Amino acid sequence: RYDGPRAAEILRKRSEYLSPSMFYFYKKPLNIVEGKMQYLFDQDGRRYLDAFAGIATVCCGHCHPDVVDAVVRQTSRLQHSTVVYLNHAIADFAEALASKLPGDLKVVFFTNSGTEANELALLITRLYTGCHDIVSVRNAYHGNASGTMAITAQYNWKFNVTQSGVHHAMNPDPYRGAFGSDGEKYARDVQEIIEFGTSGQVAGFISESIQGVGGIVELAPGYLPAVYESIRKAGGLCIADEVQSGFARTGSHFWGFEAHGIVPDIVTMAKGIGNGIPLGAVVTTPEIAQVLTRRNYFNTFGGNPVCTAGGLAVLRVLEKEKLQHNALLVGSYLKDRLKALQEKHEIIGDVRGRGMMLGVELVTDRKQKTPARTEISHAMDQMKDMGVLVGKGGFHGNVFRITPPLCFTKEDADFFIEVMDIALSKL
Ligand code: PMP
Repeated sequence: RYDGPRAAEILRKRSEYLSPSMFYFYKKPLNIVEGKMQYLFDQDGRRYLDAFAGIATVCCGHCHPDVVDAVVRQTSRLQHSTVVYLNHAIADFAEALASKLPGDLKVVFFTNSGTEANELALLITRLYTGCHDIVSVRNAYHGNASGTMAITAQYNWKFNVTQSGVHHAMNPDPYRGAFGSDGEKYARDVQEIIEFGTSGQVAGFISESIQGVGGIVELAPGYLPAVYESIRKAGGLCIADEVQSGFARTGSHFWGFEAHGIVPDIVTMAKGIGNGIPLGAVVTTPEIAQVLTRRNYFNTFGGNPVCTAGGLAVLRVLEKEKLQHNALLVGSYLKDRLKALQEKHEIIGDVRGRGMMLGVELVTDRKQKTPARTEISHAMDQMKDMGVLVGKGGFHGNVFRITPPLCFTKEDADFFIEVMDIALSKL
């Protein structure tokens, strides 16, 4: 039973005391008071199947007991900054995290968020190369501080701040992009940016492995290997932003970049790393990490014992409960069922993604690909009323983002499909 403040009171306080830029889903926003594995509960004790996991921040399941236990135990023992003393939690987690990465990627810098991780990654590429120019991909989201806002590229969501030395390359979007699924053609654009827009030398390139906020866009095959080659020839470093696609979410691999057959120079992560705890990280090679001996990188709470104890518990749960395998199995099943739904509903223009990072793009006209913006909001409200929470995104705001906790079951997938089917039928 919940007898705390109700939605109306929270809304009143929000409008008076919180940022006017905050937004919420649903005509009547939900007051969520509790979470348990793949479920969320509102103020009236109504249960919802969570197919959004707080924008993919929860991987093991809401309030997973092992993670809660690790955090509570560490909180009652010591909560502290790790900057000037030793503590085993940060070292243990760094070691465990490094073991999940390929090649020589083994030096970890902890942060509190994805934004901080990407800001640090930008700093490292610029220090290492002595260059300033960064290439990022249109429709990307990388964070909300000055550098990361500049590399983010979607004006529709009012994200952009222009900054010199940043170049936004064509988005290798197989559904809407000019070259369809031909990754190498899009990669030519990066090569031309280097040739015509820079001195020929660049600091680096950053990209998500599957765009999350941008509407679950899988980069056209062949794109990343070709771009990495161009960037490295121009002396730059390649950053993989795994904030959403990391931590087993894509099912086939632990990291999203692995499906593209590449090994980045720097990997950034957040969200799933802490199952909801504020935590982020940058992982790079010992050689590249050396540049931070020339500048002091100092982060009061980055890598604190409470969050890193939680992070270590997350890795153990992922392994113990074989959640990557589950993401692959249930995610592929859900994708197949979504594809079948596409045959039934004309409004579904595209179904895409991997594992438990899936997107369903709604269009009012399949040929013109006209974004079905109003329809998606309406369908989301309907689904909520039937007990299912799903996200939305994409440049046009017309893509369902399906990123459940990785403990989502086949039965959950069936229920999800049934509810989406009814909601789309009612449009
Ligand atoms: N990168 C990606 C791919 C993201 O999706 C996000 C958050 N949506 C970020 C970076 C920024 O992370 P944070 O909100 O933790 O700063």
